[in-house]
Amino acid sequence: MTAQLIDGKALASTVRGTVKDAVAQLKAEHGIIPGLAVVLVGSDPASEVYVRSKGKQTIEAGMNSFEFRLSADTSEKELMGLIERLNTDPEVHGILVQLPLPAHLDSKLVINAIDPHKDVDGFHTTNVGMVGTGQDAIVPCTPRGCMMMLAQIYPDLRGKTALVIGHSNIVGKPMGRLLLNADCTVIVTHKSSTNIPELARMSDIIVVAAGVPGLVKADWIKPGATVIDVGINRVPAPENGVKDDGTVKTKLVGDVDFDAAKEVAGAITPVPGGVGPMTIACLLVNTLSACCHLNSLPEPVLLGA
Ligand code: NAD
Repeated sequence: MTAQLIDGKALASTVRGTVKDAVAQLKAEHGIIPGLAVVLVGSDPASEVYVRSKGKQTIEAGMNSFEFRLSADTSEKELMGLIERLNTDPEVHGILVQLPLPAHLDSKLVINAIDPHKDVDGFHTTNVGMVGTGQDAIVPCTPRGCMMMLAQIYPDLRGKTALVIGHSNIVGKPMGRLLLNADCTVIVTHKSSTNIPELARMSDIIVVAAGVPGLVKADWIKPGATVIDVGINRVPAPENGVKDDGTVKTKLVGDVDFDAAKEVAGAITPVPGGVGPMTIACLLVNTLSACCHLNSLPEPVLLGA
């Protein structure tokens, strides 16, 4: 059996197109342009790449992108001052503080300083609590993308058994809550869980976000199950040769032993080209939704979002 590939790249492109159309309509009918402010403190290379990509896709969707690059030694007071200004800026509808922050800054405090209505990452305690109690709120981008991908396979998730591997605040926990809100039977596991392979074999859906290359083996997967691989791991790829500096080239892999797993699963996401592109697409969806909400306008209907 070869699994159906859930093409995150193609789905994300469709979502971005829908957002772009909705943004154009918002501008034409109400003269409003959604604006996303991204705050980067320090110069972590991976964060730089994400911030650039977010800015580019925000502009391509017809939205305003505001980038704030602060030095690594920025004080909490300075950062809080900026967030306060962005909270009251009518042109800013979404605020995202790129994590991780330098060690001297308390990320919980900083995230909770963002106006929950502008918290497009969905990390503010208010949004976390509202999602946890099944209320309409801003949903974190990666789990939202995973739910959109699952909607491609299941018109109705009710009664499915879903296993989440990983319980971080940004992926695993909100993923578990969303699946529970969709009336799945949910098991959330983590690095102290002792029986993940057995639990996996009972599951119709596996969502893995552990950051462990090839963690999910083919013999963990119930035949026909859907596997969503959130993991992004850079590993050496000697088969691709060496770089100019003589070091071995690398490649991106997920948390699933993909080649073997695709022979057992019913549907599976690839890495790269799976969940990754959906995350930024969902950031655009969240920014558009926040803009509509802040302007007391109905939210446009967005493909499975
Ligand atoms: P994290 O380090 O905060 O959390 C990892 C979680 O996995 C923890 O709950 C930990 O207990 C669990 N875990 C670790 N090893 C395990 C094991 N052997 N068995 C079971 N559970 C284990 O990581 P995170 O921020 O949630 O990210 C997880 C992965 O997802 C990383 O590879 C990250 O790069 C990727 N990620 C991808 C996207 C995307 O857009 N595709 C977004 C966020 C994170």
